[in-house]
Amino acid sequence: MSLPGKIKMRNPIVEIDGDEMARVMWKIVKEKLLMPYLELNTEYYDLHVTKRDATDDRITREAAEAIVRHGVGVKCATITPNEDRVKEYGLKKPWTSPNATIRAILDGTVFRKPILASNIRPSVTAWKKPITIGRHAYGDVYSNAEMRITVPGKAEIIFTPEGGGPVVRQKIKDFTEPGIIQATYNIDGSIQSFAKACFAFALEEKTDLWFSAKDTISKTYDGRFRDIFQEEYENNWKEQFTQAGLSYFFTLIDDAAARIMKSEGGILWALKNYDGDVMSDMIASANGSLAMMTSVLVSPWGHFEYEAAHGTVQKHYYKYLKGEETSTNPMAIIFTWSGALKKRGTLDATPELVSFAATLEKAAISTVESGTMTGDLMAVAVEDPRNRKVSTETFINAIAERLLQKLHR
Ligand code: NAP
Ligand code: MG
Repeated sequence: MSLPGKIKMRNPIVEIDGDEMARVMWKIVKEKLLMPYLELNTEYYDLHVTKRDATDDRITREAAEAIVRHGVGVKCATITPNEDRVKEYGLKKPWTSPNATIRAILDGTVFRKPILASNIRPSVTAWKKPITIGRHAYGDVYSNAEMRITVPGKAEIIFTPEGGGPVVRQKIKDFTEPGIIQATYNIDGSIQSFAKACFAFALEEKTDLWFSAKDTISKTYDGRFRDIFQEEYENNWKEQFTQAGLSYFFTLIDDAAARIMKSEGGILWALKNYDGDVMSDMIASANGSLAMMTSVLVSPWGHFEYEAAHGTVQKHYYKYLKGEETSTNPMAIIFTWSGALKKRGTLDATPELVSFAATLEKAAISTVESGTMTGDLMAVAVEDPRNRKVSTETFINAIAERLLQKLHR
Protein backbone atom coordinates (compact mmCIF):
# COMPACT_ATOMS: atom_id res chain seq x y z
CA MET A 1 0.00 0.00 0.00
CA SER A 2 1.37 3.39 -0.88
CA LEU A 3 1.66 6.02 1.84
CA PRO A 4 -0.12 9.28 1.10
CA GLY A 5 2.09 12.27 0.35
CA LYS A 6 5.31 10.39 -0.13
CA ILE A 7 7.16 10.61 -3.44
CA LYS A 8 7.19 7.32 -5.32
CA MET A 9 10.13 5.92 -7.25
CA ARG A 10 9.40 4.09 -10.49
CA ASN A 11 12.65 2.13 -10.56
CA PRO A 12 15.04 1.12 -7.83
CA ILE A 13 18.38 2.59 -6.88
CA VAL A 14 21.04 0.01 -6.00
CA GLU A 15 21.93 0.77 -2.39
CA ILE A 16 25.35 -0.40 -1.24
CA ASP A 17 25.90 -0.18 2.49
CA GLY A 18 29.36 0.07 4.04
CA ASP A 19 31.40 0.26 7.22
CA GLU A 20 32.13 2.13 10.43
CA MET A 21 31.22 5.81 10.89
CA ALA A 22 30.11 6.16 7.28
CA ARG A 23 27.60 3.35 7.90
CA VAL A 24 26.36 5.03 11.07
CA MET A 25 25.76 8.30 9.16
CA TRP A 26 24.21 6.41 6.23
CA LYS A 27 21.47 5.06 8.48
CA ILE A 28 20.70 8.41 10.13
CA VAL A 29 20.61 10.23 6.77
CA LYS A 30 18.10 7.71 5.43
CA GLU A 31 15.91 7.85 8.53
CA LYS A 32 15.88 11.60 8.99
CA LEU A 33 16.21 13.03 5.49
CA LEU A 34 14.85 10.49 3.03
CA MET A 35 12.32 8.09 4.51
CA PRO A 36 9.91 10.77 5.78
CA TYR A 37 9.45 12.06 2.22
CA LEU A 38 10.15 9.17 -0.16
CA GLU A 39 8.86 5.72 -0.70
CA LEU A 40 12.47 4.61 -0.99
CA ASN A 41 12.75 1.94 -3.64
CA THR A 42 16.18 0.35 -3.34
CA GLU A 43 17.82 -2.98 -4.06
CA TYR A 44 20.01 -3.38 -0.98
CA TYR A 45 23.51 -4.89 -0.90
CA ASP A 46 25.32 -5.03 2.41
CA LEU A 47 29.05 -4.63 1.83
CA HIS A 48 29.91 -4.60 5.52
CA VAL A 49 33.36 -6.14 5.61
CA THR A 50 32.09 -9.26 7.42
CA LYS A 51 29.39 -9.78 4.77
CA ARG A 52 32.00 -9.58 2.01
CA ASP A 53 34.06 -12.08 3.94
CA ALA A 54 31.13 -14.47 4.43
CA THR A 55 30.33 -14.46 0.69
CA ASP A 56 33.98 -14.62 -0.44
CA ASP A 57 33.35 -11.13 -1.86
CA ARG A 58 30.60 -12.37 -4.19
CA ILE A 59 28.28 -9.67 -2.80
CA THR A 60 30.54 -6.92 -4.17
CA ARG A 61 30.38 -8.28 -7.72
CA GLU A 62 26.62 -8.78 -7.38
CA ALA A 63 26.22 -5.17 -6.31
CA ALA A 64 28.18 -3.96 -9.35
CA GLU A 65 26.11 -6.18 -11.65
CA ALA A 66 22.93 -4.77 -10.09
CA ILE A 67 24.11 -1.26 -11.07
CA VAL A 68 24.48 -2.50 -14.63
CA ARG A 69 20.87 -3.78 -14.45
CA HIS A 70 19.25 -0.74 -12.83
CA GLY A 71 21.52 2.07 -14.06
CA VAL A 72 21.85 3.98 -10.78
CA GLY A 73 23.65 3.05 -7.57
CA VAL A 74 24.60 4.76 -4.33
CA LYS A 75 27.50 3.51 -2.23
CA CYS A 76 28.60 4.05 1.34
CA ALA A 77 32.33 4.04 2.19
CA THR A 78 33.77 0.59 2.80
CA ILE A 79 36.88 -0.78 4.47
CA THR A 80 39.58 -1.98 2.11
CA PRO A 81 41.00 -4.66 4.38
CA ASN A 82 44.71 -4.83 5.15
CA GLU A 83 46.37 -7.21 7.65
CA ASP A 84 45.23 -5.08 10.62
CA ARG A 85 41.63 -5.30 9.44
CA VAL A 86 41.93 -9.04 8.85
CA LYS A 87 42.81 -9.37 12.56
CA GLU A 88 40.28 -6.79 13.74
CA TYR A 89 37.33 -8.46 12.00
CA GLY A 90 38.65 -12.06 11.86
CA LEU A 91 38.53 -12.15 8.03
CA LYS A 92 39.61 -15.02 5.77
CA LYS A 93 41.88 -12.73 3.80
CA PRO A 94 42.46 -9.08 2.83
CA TRP A 95 39.81 -8.85 0.10
CA THR A 96 40.47 -6.42 -2.72
CA SER A 97 39.10 -2.90 -2.62
CA PRO A 98 35.33 -2.94 -3.34
CA ASN A 99 35.75 0.30 -5.28
CA ALA A 100 38.34 -1.32 -7.53
CA THR A 101 36.06 -4.35 -8.08
CA ILE A 102 33.09 -2.15 -8.93
CA ARG A 103 35.17 0.14 -11.17
CA ALA A 104 36.57 -2.84 -13.05
CA ILE A 105 33.04 -4.13 -13.77
CA LEU A 106 31.71 -0.70 -14.78
CA ASP A 107 34.96 0.36 -16.60
CA GLY A 108 34.18 3.81 -15.41
CA THR A 109 35.42 7.33 -15.09
CA VAL A 110 35.21 8.89 -11.64
CA PHE A 111 34.12 12.54 -11.47
CA ARG A 112 34.77 14.34 -8.21
CA LYS A 113 33.18 17.68 -7.62
CA PRO A 114 33.45 19.80 -4.47
CA ILE A 115 30.35 20.92 -2.56
CA LEU A 116 30.62 24.69 -2.20
CA ALA A 117 29.20 26.74 0.67
CA SER A 118 29.63 30.54 0.68
CA ASN A 119 31.23 30.61 4.14
CA ILE A 120 33.74 27.84 3.44
CA ARG A 121 36.50 29.55 1.52
CA PRO A 122 38.90 27.44 -0.53
CA SER A 123 42.56 27.71 0.50
CA VAL A 124 43.26 28.88 -3.03
CA THR A 125 41.65 32.32 -3.06
CA ALA A 126 41.50 32.49 -6.87
CA TRP A 127 38.97 29.63 -7.01
CA LYS A 128 35.42 30.89 -7.39
CA LYS A 129 33.77 27.97 -9.19
CA PRO A 130 34.11 24.22 -8.63
CA ILE A 131 37.04 22.32 -10.09
CA THR A 132 35.86 18.84 -11.01
CA ILE A 133 38.36 16.04 -11.43
CA GLY A 134 37.67 13.35 -14.04
CA ARG A 135 39.73 10.33 -13.07
CA HIS A 136 40.26 7.40 -15.41
CA ALA A 137 39.46 4.51 -13.09
CA TYR A 138 41.16 1.78 -15.08
CA GLY A 139 44.65 0.31 -15.39
CA ASP A 140 48.01 2.05 -14.84
CA VAL A 141 49.66 1.50 -11.48
CA TYR A 142 46.41 0.05 -9.99
CA SER A 143 46.85 -3.13 -12.01
CA ASN A 144 50.62 -3.15 -12.38
CA ALA A 145 53.23 -5.89 -12.21
CA GLU A 146 56.16 -5.03 -10.01
CA MET A 147 59.30 -6.71 -8.88
CA ARG A 148 62.09 -6.27 -6.36
CA ILE A 149 65.52 -6.89 -7.86
CA THR A 150 68.20 -8.11 -5.46
CA VAL A 151 70.89 -9.58 -7.71
CA PRO A 152 72.64 -8.20 -10.82
CA GLY A 153 70.92 -8.97 -14.13
CA LYS A 154 69.09 -7.69 -17.18
CA ALA A 155 65.45 -6.51 -16.99
CA GLU A 156 63.37 -6.51 -20.18
CA ILE A 157 59.77 -6.04 -21.29
CA ILE A 158 58.69 -8.93 -23.52
CA PHE A 159 55.53 -9.04 -25.62
CA THR A 160 54.55 -12.43 -27.10
CA PRO A 161 51.87 -12.20 -29.83
CA GLU A 162 49.12 -14.77 -29.31
CA GLY A 163 49.07 -16.16 -32.85
CA GLY A 164 52.85 -16.55 -33.15
CA GLY A 165 54.69 -13.74 -34.91
CA PRO A 166 57.86 -12.04 -33.73
CA VAL A 167 58.35 -11.57 -30.01
CA VAL A 168 59.02 -7.93 -29.11
CA ARG A 169 61.59 -7.20 -26.39
CA GLN A 170 62.86 -3.99 -24.98
CA LYS A 171 65.56 -3.53 -22.39
CA ILE A 172 64.57 -1.73 -19.21
CA LYS A 173 67.90 -1.81 -17.41
CA ASP A 174 71.04 -3.80 -16.74
CA PHE A 175 70.94 -4.01 -12.98
CA THR A 176 74.31 -3.91 -11.22
CA GLU A 177 72.83 -3.16 -7.82
CA PRO A 178 69.51 -3.86 -6.02
CA GLY A 179 66.46 -2.03 -7.27
CA ILE A 180 62.84 -2.18 -8.36
CA ILE A 181 60.82 -2.52 -11.59
CA GLN A 182 57.24 -1.76 -12.45
CA ALA A 183 55.17 -2.42 -15.56
CA THR A 184 51.79 -0.84 -16.22
CA TYR A 185 49.34 -1.04 -19.09
CA ASN A 186 46.21 0.47 -20.50
CA ILE A 187 43.96 -0.34 -23.43
CA ASP A 188 42.69 1.90 -26.24
CA GLY A 189 39.05 0.99 -25.63
CA SER A 190 39.13 2.07 -22.00
CA ILE A 191 40.99 5.31 -22.79
CA GLN A 192 38.42 6.08 -25.45
CA SER A 193 35.54 5.44 -23.02
CA PHE A 194 37.31 7.71 -20.56
CA ALA A 195 37.61 10.47 -23.15
CA LYS A 196 33.95 10.10 -24.21
CA ALA A 197 32.78 10.20 -20.59
CA CYS A 198 34.79 13.39 -19.97
CA PHE A 199 33.50 15.21 -23.06
CA ALA A 200 29.93 14.18 -22.24
CA PHE A 201 30.23 15.23 -18.60
CA ALA A 202 31.81 18.60 -19.48
CA LEU A 203 29.01 19.29 -21.93
CA GLU A 204 26.34 18.28 -19.39
CA GLU A 205 27.91 20.46 -16.70
CA LYS A 206 28.75 23.26 -19.17
CA THR A 207 32.40 23.52 -18.17
CA ASP A 208 35.64 23.66 -20.14
CA LEU A 209 37.66 20.46 -20.30
CA TRP A 210 41.38 20.14 -19.70
CA PHE A 211 43.26 16.91 -20.14
CA SER A 212 46.82 16.68 -18.94
CA ALA A 213 49.51 14.01 -18.91
CA LYS A 214 53.30 13.83 -19.31
CA ASP A 215 53.58 13.09 -23.02
CA THR A 216 56.96 14.80 -23.40
CA ILE A 217 58.53 12.12 -21.20
CA SER A 218 56.15 9.21 -21.79
CA LYS A 219 55.90 9.58 -25.55
CA THR A 220 54.18 6.26 -26.28
CA TYR A 221 52.06 5.69 -23.16
CA ASP A 222 50.90 9.20 -22.27
CA GLY A 223 51.15 10.12 -25.95
CA ARG A 224 48.48 7.53 -26.70
CA PHE A 225 46.14 9.10 -24.16
CA ARG A 226 46.73 12.56 -25.71
CA ASP A 227 46.06 11.28 -29.25
CA ILE A 228 42.88 9.43 -28.32
CA PHE A 229 41.49 12.51 -26.57
CA GLN A 230 42.36 14.68 -29.57
CA GLU A 231 40.75 12.26 -32.10
CA GLU A 232 37.66 11.88 -29.94
CA TYR A 233 37.36 15.67 -29.70
CA GLU A 234 37.82 16.32 -33.42
CA ASN A 235 35.48 13.50 -34.47
CA ASN A 236 32.63 13.73 -31.99
CA TRP A 237 32.61 16.83 -29.80
CA LYS A 238 34.23 19.86 -31.42
CA GLU A 239 31.02 21.17 -32.94
CA GLN A 240 28.95 20.73 -29.78
CA PHE A 241 31.69 22.34 -27.69
CA THR A 242 31.94 25.32 -30.02
CA GLN A 243 28.18 25.77 -30.03
CA ALA A 244 28.08 25.67 -26.23
CA GLY A 245 30.98 28.14 -26.02
CA LEU A 246 33.18 25.57 -24.30
CA SER A 247 36.79 24.71 -24.93
CA TYR A 248 38.96 21.60 -24.77
CA PHE A 249 42.68 21.74 -24.40
CA PHE A 250 45.54 19.40 -23.70
CA THR A 251 48.52 20.51 -21.69
CA LEU A 252 51.38 18.97 -19.73
CA ILE A 253 50.39 17.94 -16.24
CA ASP A 254 52.91 20.24 -14.56
CA ASP A 255 51.66 23.16 -16.65
CA ALA A 256 48.07 22.28 -15.72
CA ALA A 257 48.96 22.06 -12.01
CA ALA A 258 50.52 25.52 -12.17
CA ARG A 259 47.61 27.02 -14.14
CA ILE A 260 44.90 25.53 -11.94
CA MET A 261 46.23 27.51 -8.95
CA LYS A 262 45.60 30.76 -10.82
CA SER A 263 42.35 29.83 -12.54
CA GLU A 264 38.99 30.77 -11.13
CA GLY A 265 37.71 27.19 -11.50
CA GLY A 266 34.69 26.05 -13.44
CA ILE A 267 36.81 23.40 -15.14
CA LEU A 268 36.63 19.66 -15.61
CA TRP A 269 40.22 18.46 -15.30
CA ALA A 270 40.64 14.99 -16.80
CA LEU A 271 43.52 12.94 -15.42
CA LYS A 272 45.01 9.49 -15.68
CA ASN A 273 44.24 7.08 -12.85
CA TYR A 274 47.07 7.92 -10.43
CA ASP A 275 47.17 11.64 -11.22
CA GLY A 276 43.42 11.79 -10.59
CA ASP A 277 43.73 9.88 -7.31
CA VAL A 278 46.26 12.39 -5.99
CA MET A 279 44.81 15.59 -7.42
CA SER A 280 41.25 14.86 -6.29
CA ASP A 281 42.40 14.60 -2.66
CA MET A 282 44.35 17.85 -3.05
CA ILE A 283 41.33 19.65 -4.49
CA ALA A 284 39.08 18.19 -1.76
CA SER A 285 41.32 19.33 1.03
CA ALA A 286 41.81 22.78 -0.55
CA ASN A 287 38.03 23.10 -0.58
CA GLY A 288 37.87 22.64 3.17
CA SER A 289 37.33 18.98 3.94
CA LEU A 290 37.26 15.55 2.36
CA ALA A 291 33.63 15.47 3.45
CA MET A 292 32.81 18.32 1.04
CA MET A 293 33.56 16.22 -2.03
CA THR A 294 31.11 14.19 -4.08
CA SER A 295 32.06 11.47 -6.44
CA VAL A 296 30.26 9.72 -9.27
CA LEU A 297 31.45 6.79 -11.33
CA VAL A 298 30.09 6.93 -14.88
CA SER A 299 30.34 3.88 -17.12
CA PRO A 300 30.63 4.17 -20.91
CA TRP A 301 27.17 2.57 -21.17
CA GLY A 302 25.59 5.22 -18.95
CA HIS A 303 25.49 3.61 -15.51
CA PHE A 304 26.00 5.89 -12.54
CA GLU A 305 27.36 5.07 -9.10
CA TYR A 306 27.36 7.87 -6.53
CA GLU A 307 29.68 7.73 -3.52
CA ALA A 308 31.37 9.94 -0.96
CA ALA A 309 35.03 10.69 -1.63
CA HIS A 310 36.04 10.07 1.99
CA GLY A 311 36.56 6.74 3.72
CA THR A 312 34.83 5.11 6.66
CA VAL A 313 36.20 7.70 9.14
CA GLN A 314 37.65 4.98 11.34
CA LYS A 315 38.98 7.22 14.14
CA HIS A 316 35.60 8.84 14.69
CA TYR A 317 33.94 5.40 14.71
CA TYR A 318 36.12 4.21 17.59
CA LYS A 319 35.02 7.29 19.57
CA TYR A 320 31.41 6.53 18.66
CA LEU A 321 31.81 2.93 19.87
CA LYS A 322 33.08 4.22 23.23
CA GLY A 323 29.92 6.29 23.50
CA GLU A 324 31.74 9.59 22.97
CA GLU A 325 30.15 12.37 20.95
CA THR A 326 31.32 12.62 17.34
CA SER A 327 31.17 15.54 14.96
CA THR A 328 31.54 13.74 11.64
CA ASN A 329 30.45 15.48 8.47
CA PRO A 330 27.65 13.72 6.51
CA MET A 331 27.56 16.25 3.61
CA ALA A 332 29.20 13.97 1.04
CA ILE A 333 26.89 11.11 2.03
CA ILE A 334 23.83 13.35 1.68
CA PHE A 335 25.05 14.43 -1.76
CA THR A 336 25.58 10.83 -2.89
CA TRP A 337 21.88 10.25 -2.19
CA SER A 338 20.74 13.51 -3.77
CA GLY A 339 22.90 12.80 -6.84
CA ALA A 340 21.45 9.31 -7.24
CA LEU A 341 17.88 10.51 -6.67
CA LYS A 342 18.30 13.29 -9.26
CA LYS A 343 19.66 10.83 -11.79
CA ARG A 344 16.90 8.29 -11.06
CA GLY A 345 14.28 11.02 -11.35
CA THR A 346 15.74 12.28 -14.64
CA LEU A 347 15.95 8.81 -16.17
CA ASP A 348 12.44 7.87 -14.99
CA ALA A 349 10.85 11.24 -15.78
CA THR A 350 9.78 11.85 -12.18
CA PRO A 351 10.47 15.58 -11.74
CA GLU A 352 9.18 15.55 -8.15
CA LEU A 353 12.10 13.28 -7.23
CA VAL A 354 14.60 15.62 -8.91
CA SER A 355 13.10 18.60 -7.18
CA PHE A 356 13.14 16.86 -3.76
CA ALA A 357 16.83 16.05 -4.22
CA ALA A 358 17.63 19.65 -5.15
CA THR A 359 15.77 20.90 -2.06
CA LEU A 360 17.69 18.45 0.13
CA GLU A 361 20.99 19.85 -1.23
CA LYS A 362 19.85 23.41 -0.57
CA ALA A 363 18.79 22.52 2.98
CA ALA A 364 22.20 20.92 3.64
CA ILE A 365 24.22 23.83 2.23
CA SER A 366 22.13 26.49 3.92
CA THR A 367 22.60 24.73 7.28
CA VAL A 368 26.37 25.07 6.91
CA GLU A 369 25.96 28.67 5.70
CA SER A 370 23.88 29.48 8.80
CA GLY A 371 26.91 28.57 10.91
CA THR A 372 25.76 25.15 12.16
CA MET A 373 28.53 22.77 11.14
CA THR A 374 30.68 19.78 12.03
CA GLY A 375 34.17 20.09 13.50
CA ASP A 376 36.07 19.62 10.24
CA LEU A 377 34.48 22.78 8.80
CA MET A 378 34.97 24.99 11.87
CA ALA A 379 38.65 25.40 11.08
CA VAL A 380 38.04 26.51 7.48
CA ALA A 381 34.85 28.56 7.83
CA VAL A 382 34.80 32.33 7.52
CA GLU A 383 34.74 33.76 11.07
CA ASP A 384 31.23 34.47 12.23
CA PRO A 385 29.78 34.62 15.76
CA ARG A 386 26.98 32.28 14.61
CA ASN A 387 29.44 29.43 13.90
CA ARG A 388 28.99 26.50 16.22
CA LYS A 389 30.35 22.99 16.14
CA VAL A 390 27.61 20.40 16.59
CA SER A 391 27.49 16.61 16.80
CA THR A 392 26.85 14.42 13.77
CA GLU A 393 23.25 13.83 14.78
CA THR A 394 22.51 17.45 15.75
CA PHE A 395 23.82 18.54 12.34
CA ILE A 396 21.58 16.08 10.50
CA ASN A 397 18.62 17.17 12.65
CA ALA A 398 19.30 20.81 11.73
CA ILE A 399 19.25 19.89 8.05
CA ALA A 400 16.02 17.93 8.60
CA GLU A 401 14.39 21.02 10.11
CA ARG A 402 15.38 23.20 7.18
CA LEU A 403 14.31 20.55 4.70
CA LEU A 404 10.87 20.39 6.29
CA GLN A 405 10.54 24.20 6.13
CA LYS A 406 11.65 24.34 2.50
CA LEU A 407 9.31 21.53 1.43
CA HIS A 408 6.28 23.12 3.09
CA ARG A 409 6.94 26.63 1.86
P1 NAP B 1 38.99 8.54 5.94
O1 NAP B 1 37.95 7.63 6.42
O2 NAP B 1 38.66 9.35 4.73
O3 NAP B 1 39.39 9.51 7.12
C1 NAP B 1 40.61 10.21 7.19
C2 NAP B 1 40.47 11.45 8.09
O4 NAP B 1 39.83 12.48 7.32
C3 NAP B 1 39.57 11.24 9.28
O5 NAP B 1 40.28 10.70 10.36
C4 NAP B 1 39.08 12.66 9.53
O6 NAP B 1 40.10 13.46 10.11
C5 NAP B 1 38.89 13.17 8.11
N1 NAP B 1 37.55 12.87 7.57
C6 NAP B 1 37.24 12.04 6.53
N2 NAP B 1 35.93 12.04 6.32
C7 NAP B 1 35.38 12.87 7.23
C8 NAP B 1 34.05 13.26 7.53
N3 NAP B 1 33.01 12.79 6.82
N4 NAP B 1 33.85 14.14 8.54
C9 NAP B 1 34.87 14.61 9.25
N5 NAP B 1 36.17 14.27 9.03
C10 NAP B 1 36.41 13.41 8.04
O7 NAP B 1 40.31 7.74 5.58
P2 NAP B 1 41.15 6.64 6.40
O8 NAP B 1 41.02 6.88 7.86
O9 NAP B 1 42.47 6.63 5.77
O10 NAP B 1 40.45 5.28 6.05
C11 NAP B 1 39.51 4.60 6.89
C12 NAP B 1 38.96 3.42 6.13
O11 NAP B 1 38.26 3.89 4.98
C13 NAP B 1 40.02 2.46 5.61
O12 NAP B 1 39.69 1.15 6.00
C14 NAP B 1 39.98 2.61 4.10
O13 NAP B 1 40.18 1.38 3.47
C15 NAP B 1 38.59 3.10 3.85
N6 NAP B 1 38.42 3.98 2.67
C16 NAP B 1 37.30 3.78 1.92
C17 NAP B 1 37.02 4.60 0.84
C18 NAP B 1 35.76 4.35 0.07
O14 NAP B 1 35.06 3.39 0.29
N7 NAP B 1 35.41 5.20 -0.86
C19 NAP B 1 37.87 5.66 0.53
C20 NAP B 1 39.00 5.86 1.34
C21 NAP B 1 39.25 5.03 2.42
P3 NAP B 1 40.25 13.71 11.71
O15 NAP B 1 40.48 12.35 12.31
O16 NAP B 1 41.43 14.62 11.76
O17 NAP B 1 38.98 14.32 12.19
MG1 MG C 1 43.08 9.14 -3.12
